[in-house]
Amino acid sequence: MPFKISPKTLEATRDTAKANAQEGRGMDLLGRLRRGDSLSDEELATIFLSPDIKTSELIDLAKEMREPHALEIETFCPLYISNECDAECLMCGMRNFNNSLIRQTADEETIKDQLKILGHRGIRGVALLTGEYRHGKMRKEMLNRTSIATRDALTSQFEHILINVGSIEEEEYEPLLHGVPRLDDGSVSPHITMCTFQESYHPDVYKKFMGTTTENPRSNFTRRLQNFDRAAAAGMRSANPGVLVGLNPDLTYEMLALLAHCHHLQNLGMTTYVSLPRLRKASGAPHSAGVGDDEFFRLIAVLSAGIPKAKLVISTRESPKIQQKLLPIIDVLTPGSPGVAPYTLENARFEVEASQFEVADHRPFEEILGECLRAGAKIDGYEPTTSTDLNG
Ligand code: SF4
Repeated sequence: MPFKISPKTLEATRDTAKANAQEGRGMDLLGRLRRGDSLSDEELATIFLSPDIKTSELIDLAKEMREPHALEIETFCPLYISNECDAECLMCGMRNFNNSLIRQTADEETIKDQLKILGHRGIRGVALLTGEYRHGKMRKEMLNRTSIATRDALTSQFEHILINVGSIEEEEYEPLLHGVPRLDDGSVSPHITMCTFQESYHPDVYKKFMGTTTENPRSNFTRRLQNFDRAAAAGMRSANPGVLVGLNPDLTYEMLALLAHCHHLQNLGMTTYVSLPRLRKASGAPHSAGVGDDEFFRLIAVLSAGIPKAKLVISTRESPKIQQKLLPIIDVLTPGSPGVAPYTLENARFEVEASQFEVADHRPFEEILGECLRAGAKIDGYEPTTSTDLNG
């Protein structure tokens, strides 16, 4: 059965969790979590909402629970193939009617060169991104370019490829994954992850930001919600859902929906990455700070301790200080630029006027990941290099 959500049921669970938190039941649940009990989503939400549980206690618990594999993280860099988009998401610099964005699309040669630069700089994981397109020439072209880039990445040194190109129709998966090795049962054998962030799991919030008109390729809530089901049917075994934190002020609702989605994906046998980007300034869009640090830390800590099999992803949208604070309780730190084909041998371009959104940390990823290594982290997906010769 494809994934479905019932906002009414999630709201009822949220209200029960809120009442239990007010009655002081969170501490007992925290003790059970510490002793290794697996808690229900409602119980995790109770902990999240408990006024008598300090955020520092939640972070300490998440650290404690990760102790056996402390500071073992993965990394990958985003590589935007295009910032053109036919969708109209209000919070995004790439939205179709944003005339102030400088539009760019990388050709095949440029993408190849970018992969070469990333590989040369030691990166072994890459997320390929485009906008989302109406059915027609541009959509076919962008899916084809992503498919070629996936094969190029697989034949170079990349060990993990993430595909973030919007919802894919059932019949589009085959051309997208063309040439990708498969196991006997049809599963995609290299580590390729489908990324589709729902941004908000509430249909009303989704409508408000992502639009409603049928010619807008992003406006269909259910089609997006069930993209991973189609990916699994096409043989993909790794999924990356996400919430744009701050879009819906009701963070508990989003947490409950995300937990339900993670359980569904894990039941399908998919490795599950969870992205929690905070709303940031985007070209031509009103700035919003999303949620405050404390609420954000609580969310990450509860998910880190409560669903240990999911891999929590944080990007350099967050400042160095926040990255360091969260490093012991996350699984993936992704540095890089949201500009189109932005990488140079030394760093990257970060112009907000040509990017999907603004990032907080513009340091070269060697510096960002080097800081993690110095803090004692082991990083999967990064092999530091000292060579300055691109062909070396
Ligand atoms: S969020 Fe994605 S689909 Fe929506 S406008 Fe931005 S790039 Fe396009």
